[in-house]
Amino acid sequence: DHLIKLLLIGDSGVGKSSLLLRFSDSVFETSYITTLGIDFKNRVIELDGKKIMLQIWDTAGQERFRTITTAYYRGAMGILLVYDVTNESSFNNIRSWISSIEQHSKDNIINKILVGNKADMDERKRVVPFSKGKALANEYGIKFFETSAKTSQNVNEAFFSIARDIKQRLPDI
Ligand code: GDP
Ligand code: MG
Repeated sequence: DHLIKLLLIGDSGVGKSSLLLRFSDSVFETSYITTLGIDFKNRVIELDGKKIMLQIWDTAGQERFRTITTAYYRGAMGILLVYDVTNESSFNNIRSWISSIEQHSKDNIINKILVGNKADMDERKRVVPFSKGKALANEYGIKFFETSAKTSQNVNEAFFSIARDIKQRLPDI
């Protein structure tokens, strides 16, 4: 009965669907899963002895065209802003994703966290250092995690962290 609606936002290819599959089904796929068009997945977690249903929504490729609609944001309590540590433009676009969120959700409070995904990749492929991700998150006053959907590094931690922040500001959860 306690439901928290989360959204995954970020450029195409950063690993949003992979993070969702890793968190909900404990699996990883090496192929693009953008076209599957999953709407959302649920996972029940326990926080301070309370069972909470996390309902996590994924974009079905529409992020490629930046045509994410107000309907997608409706009822969202938290957003995971995802970039790829091996893709500079996905990092630079985080700012415009944040302003897009602000435009689409004027009246409701939405918790955000910043997620730098693909942290498992070879260090030679990395173009966004941890310190840059951390600095951007600090600027917006949000938490920051480097994750890997491939190895599971920090995936649970990121989802639990945002769920915990949301639970704290909602008295009836
Ligand atoms: P989306 O467009 O943001 O939903 O990205 P996808 O989840 O479809 O992932 C895009 C590609 O990146 C796929 O080939 C995934 O296998 C790969 N990928 C996603 N997450 C990771 C990760 O943490 N590490 C590595 N090495 N590859 C990943
Ligand atoms: Mg996808």
